[in-house]
Amino acid sequence: MHRIGVLTSGGDAPGMNAAVRAVVRKGIFLGREILGVRRGFAGLIEGDVEAMSLGSVADVIQTGGTILLTARSQEFRTPEGRAQAFASARRVGMDGLVVIGGDGSFRGAFALHQETGLPVVCIPATIDNDIPGTDYSIGFDTAVNTVVDAVNKIRATATSHERTFVVEVMGRDSGFIALTAGLAGGAESILIPEIPFDLEDVCRRLLRGVRRGKHHSIIVVAEGAASAAAVAAEIKARTGFDTKITILGHIQRGGAPTAFDRVLASVMGAWAVELLTGGERCGAIAVKGGQLTRYDLPEVFEMKKEIDEGLYRLAEVLAI
Ligand code: ATP
Repeated sequence: MHRIGVLTSGGDAPGMNAAVRAVVRKGIFLGREILGVRRGFAGLIEGDVEAMSLGSVADVIQTGGTILLTARSQEFRTPEGRAQAFASARRVGMDGLVVIGGDGSFRGAFALHQETGLPVVCIPATIDNDIPGTDYSIGFDTAVNTVVDAVNKIRATATSHERTFVVEVMGRDSGFIALTAGLAGGAESILIPEIPFDLEDVCRRLLRGVRRGKHHSIIVVAEGAASAAAVAAEIKARTGFDTKITILGHIQRGGAPTAFDRVLASVMGAWAVELLTGGERCGAIAVKGGQLTRYDLPEVFEMKKEIDEGLYRLAEVLAI
């Protein structure tokens, strides 16, 4: 294993650059050549590849986004597209590939390995934290901190005007950001796709809060659970409260990665190179109970990532 490729794929996540930096520097430290692939699998198909140097990853550990750029590729979903990607990899002498991305990127890497035998190692990176088998994905901690910061700011104006705010956060199919940021931000209610909710109950909680002297209320809703506009309209209709909405949107993807994400990315990136140079064929890196661990890629697809219902119930109790 002399020449190792690295790419970022799917949605960008803060900390991807720290992971790329770790792959490059650890690889060079071990005497390997590292090839950076631009625009994920789309760039692999096109052969958009450049040799990385120690200096090419200078000054990136603190930056959001991805210096390698990212993309979603329909072509790579077909066997023909993957054959083309493999041909490009062969042309530049790539004998292994580190894929940094979400669940879809993992599936793409697995298909590529199955059809061509190219060794792959996947690193979980998505703000949604919805990848099974790992407690944390790169970017999640940063996104949660961004939401908590926004909730803190909204809280100040909510209190001053004695308003109710509904804050919509990312999470089409998963409520990890909403639940963690809602608990950390002291939200009165948290609405997530995994746990059924009743807006009647949400309103009851709001009225109870007001009766005991609360000056404001914040409801955090994951986009996949309901829209902030619909929740606010319902609350207004049922309680008559002045209810505003904030949709945080793409700011949740941006910003400097937290120290947690930088360390996670550094450790995972370096280990990915160690695994490949040690003969890994088709692995996924994860962190479980504070321990770095690996799975055979298909194992990840058989697992389910469950929301922590205990945390959800705790948030309800503490917001009373
Ligand atoms: P995020 O969680 O941020 O959306 P992701 O990695 O899940 O990230 P996707 O768009 O689902 O993002 O996947 C990235 C790319 O991986 C796709 O554009 C496609 O090229 C490839 N891919 C996804 N699923 C498959 C699959 N089942 N088979 C082959 N390739 C796939």
